[in-house]
Amino acid sequence: MSTTPSGPNPVCEVGMKHPRDRHRMRPVDGVENVWFCSRHSMYAQLVDPETAEAVRRGDEWGHYEGIDGLVVRQGDERQGGQIVYFREK
Ligand SMILES: [Zn+2]
Repeated sequence: MSTTPSGPNPVCEVGMKHPRDRHRMRPVDGVENVWFCSRHSMYAQLVDPETAEAVRRGDEWGHYEGIDGLVVRQGDERQGGQIVYFREK
């Protein structure tokens, strides 16, 4: 991905389902286009749309090195990419 700023922090996936609990995720230090919610152990990653569309809930997610992930859902599109939410296995 490019090194341009990736926009506002995404809303946590848990908060998307519970409007009273909307909160944003925090960028992961030293990693571009990855965010984390420590309350819910939820990650979000901005990837290209082809990568995002190729996965479904429960699929393995290995695009963030060091984390064995499982896809939760797709999120917003931005800058020609798409957010994918995932959790550690
Ligand atoms: Zn959260």
